[in-house]
This record gives sequence, structure tokens and C-alpha cells, in this order.
Amino acid sequence: MKNKFDCDVVIVGGGLVGSTLAYTLSKLSLKIILIENADPENLEQPGFDSRSTAISKGSQKILSGIGIWEAIEDKTESINSIHISEQKHFGISRILSSEEGVGALGYTVESRFLGKTLWDKIKQVDNVNFFAPASLIDASFNNNYAEVSIKSKDYKKVLKTKVVIAADGVNSRVREILKIDYKKDFYSQRAIVANCRTELPHCGQAFERFSPSGPLAMLPLSDERVGIVWTLPEKKAEEFLNLEDQFFISKLQESFGRRLGEIKKIGKRFSYPLFRMRSSKIIDKRSVIIGSAAVHLHPVAAQGFNLALRDIASLAEIFSESKNNDIGSEIVLNYYQRWRKNDQSKVSFLTHSLIKIFGLESRILSFMRGISLIGFDILPGTKKIFSRHMMGLSGKMSRLARGLPLVDDNNKL
Ligand SMILES: Cc1cc2nc3c(=O)[nH]c(=O)nc-3n(C[C@H](O)[C@H](O)[C@H](O)COP(=O)(O)OP(=O)(O)OC[C@H]3O[C@@H](n4cnc5c(N)ncnc54)[C@H](O)[C@@H]3O)c2cc1C
Repeated sequence: MKNKFDCDVVIVGGGLVGSTLAYTLSKLSLKIILIENADPENLEQPGFDSRSTAISKGSQKILSGIGIWEAIEDKTESINSIHISEQKHFGISRILSSEEGVGALGYTVESRFLGKTLWDKIKQVDNVNFFAPASLIDASFNNNYAEVSIKSKDYKKVLKTKVVIAADGVNSRVREILKIDYKKDFYSQRAIVANCRTELPHCGQAFERFSPSGPLAMLPLSDERVGIVWTLPEKKAEEFLNLEDQFFISKLQESFGRRLGEIKKIGKRFSYPLFRMRSSKIIDKRSVIIGSAAVHLHPVAAQGFNLALRDIASLAEIFSESKNNDIGSEIVLNYYQRWRKNDQSKVSFLTHSLIKIFGLESRILSFMRGISLIGFDILPGTKKIFSRHMMGLSGKMSRLARGLPLVDDNNKL
């Protein structure tokens, strides 16, 4: 029976999520095929751009457990504190690593570098077959197996597998083939992303500054740079994108203030449309939907990749413990859904609520928000619950997120 399969798992999409999943599953005795549209030679994958990804403490443990952290650590920067405020209003809150009893609340790393590291690692392992550039064209799913048709410039193939994992992004072709419905909420906003240099060193401080037009995040990066994720209404974002550097800097300075002194220099600016998308199902017959294909979030709390890493660690753990060895069976996939659905819904709700609450212009609301930020700061219980969740250190945690090896030697088949 086993020989009839080309592999145990087909992963569609080699973005940050698909490639981390492939590398994590390579630690198990599984045969994996990873299919990616983009050409690995020129790193044209859309997610591997010069954006920086903030990685939570829990995510760092997951990356460390699979051996990726040691390969990127030198190019990461620690986040030691997060300063939350609202433009032109009273009330601030601070989350400090020292109060949380952790060395760092999280880290930042350039997405392009993380992506390249993952692809280099994947190429070195024997049990991952990396088809790129190649695209999934079609797929069929039945009770006992799934088949995917892939196409590249030089070949067409049909591959038989136990389970297909859709990590093919927000416009997932797999989700479309499975006719899985999804819900999209548009924010009518874009995020401008760029790196800058400031007069004062960032000292590991991250800032989240809310304003009615959207939040502005300033993140500490390696090499004394600061990463900007600035959410603006669509029209304003377009206008600001086209400003000359010195005018853009003065707008940014006006919005952020002088907590890092003068903003000296700005790098190339990119922009991203912002919306929330939730797939109505995260599993189906012989299939799992993961990453942006399952839940796409507003970047306000830097949770998209972190949430997906928790999904990856849980899925890999379930596969490693799958007693009947059929990792695509209903019982195994249902277990994954039960474990992960709650965290996904909570994070999606929380990020959406932050945008809605801080986006409303009203003096009473603004007063309430100021009070809430102060309350949040002086009520350690509230802050602890929030920050543990954002750090990925709450709820039912996977072995990797707890700093344990992926495979539990006492629970082997
Ligand atoms: C401005 C911004 C800032 C962010 N900052 C953070 C942050 O700080 N921290 C955080 O945790 N998250 C952050 N996120 C979210 C994070 O970037 C996403 O969660 C993550 O990139 C999703 O990765 P993915 O692999 O699921 O999807 P994608 O990056 O979209 O990858 C999908 C891949 O599938 C491939 N593909 C698609 N269709 C096919 C097909 N038919 N056949 C083969 N291949 C296919 C594509 O080429 C692509 O490589 C941010 C997002 C934005 C927009």
C-alpha cells in the first residue's frame, strides 16, 4: 500500500509557512514534496521581501527546536520592550521583558533572509523533494488518498499522497479546488513598510502608536536600523508612498514623535493592502489549510507568521504521534482542527478588534482608550494574559513551543 504513494505529504506553497512546515516535517520519517511557484534561484517569492518579521518568544523556541534559529540568530534583533500609545492622547502602556521574566519578548528578522535560510536548509535534506518553479494546477481528494497535478516549464506530473497541505497564500488554489468558502473584511487601508535610521539607538524598544488613520509600528532591527509598518487609509498611503524622502520623513516624525530623536534616513518603501481573511474550514478530506491560506490578519500585532508557526508545531507533533500511521486520516486531521481552531479565532478577533477600537474617532472613546492603556499598564494580571498570548506562551502549547524536542521518545510508534 505504502509504495503506491509518491510521498506522505504534499505541501503547496514554499513561502515562509510552507517552507518552515516542510523543514519541520523533515525531522519525522516522512517523505515530503514541496511545490513552489517561484524560482528558488532568484528568490522572487513574494513573501521573502525586505519586510522584517517580528517573531514572538514562543516562535523563537519553535525555530530553535527545528534548528533554524541557530542559522538566523546573528541577524536577528531582540525586542526588550513594547511601548503602546495613542497619538495626541494621554495613556501609555509598556510591556517589558524583565516583567515577563523572559530574556526578550521577541525578535525581528528580515523575511528575505529567513526565507533564504529555509530554502537552503530544505535543499540539504533527503526526505524533502522541492519542485520549484512548479505550480499546482489541479487536485482530487478521496477517502484513501489525494492526487495533485503539477506543472513546470519542463514537465507535468501527477503525484499521489496521503495528505495535501495548502500553504499557497491568501488566494489559495487548493482552497478553491476544495470549494472551501472564506470571509474577507476590508480595512480600506494599506501598510507602508520601510526601514529607517534614527538619531537615538533603539535599545531593543518596539513602539506601537495608534491613531484614527491606523497604527504605526516601529521595530528594532539589526545594524541599528528601525523597521516601520505604517497603516494609513488607502489614498493617504498612496500619497505618502510618492513623497520625496525628506517630506515622508517629516510626516513620519510628526506621527511618531521624537522618542528615537530625529529620523535621519529612510530606505525603499513598499506597500501592502490590508484585510482580514478567514477560511471557513482548516481541514477537509485529506487536506489541511495553513498560513495565509487559512487566516490572513492585519499586521497590527505582528501575529500572522507567529500564529502559523504554532499551527506548524502542533501539526508536526500530531503527525509524529499518529498511531495508525495514516497522517491524512479524518481522525488525525480532526485532532489538529480541535487543537488549533480556538487560537486562530482568538488572534483573528483580537487583531480585528484593535483596529476597530483604535480606529474610531470619538472623544469619549478616546478617553476610555487612554484609561484602558493606563489600566492595562497598572493591572499586571491583564497585561500578563495579553502578553503571554502575544508571545505564543499560553493555551495548549506544542512540545516545540515549550522548548522540548518535536518527537517524544516515550511516545514513539
Ligand atoms: C505588512 C505586513 C507585515 C507583517 N509583519 C508580520 C510580523 O511582524 N510577524 C508575523 O508573524 N507576521 C507578519 N505578517 C504576516 C506574515 O507576513 C504572513 O503571515 C506570512 O508571510 C504568510 O506566509 P504564507 O507562506 O502563508 O503565504 P505567502 O507568503 O503568500 O506564500 C504562499 C506561497 O505559495 C506559493 N503559491 C501560491 N499558489 C501556488 C500554486 N498554485 N502552486 C505552487 N505554489 C503556489 C506562492 O508563490 C508563495 O510562495 C505581516 C504581513 C504584512 C502584510
